[in-house]
Amino acid sequence: MTVNLLDFDLEGLAAFCEQLGEKRFRATQLFRWIHHKGASDFAQMTDLARSLREKLPAAARITGLPVLSRQDSADGTIKWLFDVGDGNAVETVFIPEDDRGTLCVSSQAGCAVGCRFCSTGHQGFSRNLTTGEILAQLWQAEFFLRQHLNRPGERVITNVVMMGMGEPLQNIHALIPALKVMLDDHAYGLSRRRVTVSTSGVVPMIDRLAQECPVALAVSLHAPNDPLRDDLVPLNRKYPIAELLDACLRYLPAAPRDFITFEYCMLDGVNDTPEHARELLKLLREHGGRGVPCKINLIPFNPFPDSGLRCSPRAVVQRFGQILNEGGIVTTIRKTRGDDIDAACGQLAGDVLDRTDAARRLAQRRAVEQPIRFVTPHPERQA
Ligand code: SF4
Repeated sequence: MTVNLLDFDLEGLAAFCEQLGEKRFRATQLFRWIHHKGASDFAQMTDLARSLREKLPAAARITGLPVLSRQDSADGTIKWLFDVGDGNAVETVFIPEDDRGTLCVSSQAGCAVGCRFCSTGHQGFSRNLTTGEILAQLWQAEFFLRQHLNRPGERVITNVVMMGMGEPLQNIHALIPALKVMLDDHAYGLSRRRVTVSTSGVVPMIDRLAQECPVALAVSLHAPNDPLRDDLVPLNRKYPIAELLDACLRYLPAAPRDFITFEYCMLDGVNDTPEHARELLKLLREHGGRGVPCKINLIPFNPFPDSGLRCSPRAVVQRFGQILNEGGIVTTIRKTRGDDIDAACGQLAGDVLDRTDAARRLAQRRAVEQPIRFVTPHPERQA
């Protein structure tokens, strides 16, 4: 049984080289072949010691993920559907802009959080991705794009956002080594500011990320109060807004940026009124006494079948943003990209199977919860 070298950060690869009876520094050479040059064949690695090159094929492999499909949008956005086995698939999206190339990476097959406005959440949770499966998305996209765009030897992906399928902080064990590889100068050498982890609010893991690998943090907020957020982001029942914002304040001293980005999906008639905007402003400007230094991204909702939700009209989104901007919080309305290939935010479900039947269970649970959601505080919070 061989190990996939995409599963290792540099430290892990050095330990693996030691196990093979090789010097730890050989790992750096190997690491650079894999992540700087995109090599997957040990025979190509001509400057590796011959002893190591001879041992490697029996002990290791460098294997990406099978590509089930690739779709190219008219706006340059590219979406891959990768096979992760047992009928599961994950999506990865490349978004080119004038001054950057951003890759949106998945961390889980499905997602257990079950946000109401998210098609991945409706599909249920299958399993966590391994470090190698998270990194394979970057490795394959980067070296495909260099060839596809005829930019040999030039880095194409300049930013990574962990905003694809899954809640990355519920898979932190695999996430941290993957982030370390993204940041490592012997691999992708991305700055901490250009790698963003987006979370729905797994409070203890925000603290752990701060300690182990602080990168830019985006928080999916979507509501200015707990009753509404309980409904939209069920994890809020476990980690309500005040606890989440406290975690954001604790994160900031370690963060590479001096602000947190809050994501806010604009849902027609649900969370998009001027009163909601003013409540959000007050919350973020006053929490903890001095407020939370932040920026806000307003995300137009991308409808999907059975969501029961609609996107807020353009004028409503603009009015909402204007209230926040006038109140002193820098707020932008996110452009949607890749609409023609269903690659926009919240559309990452594609043809992936619902293997857990969670969509049905989620719908049942909501049917029970909705009539009482503004009346009774959730038991977990009362405890
Ligand atoms: S928005 Fe993120 S955390 Fe919520 S269900 Fe979708 S993938 Fe999971």
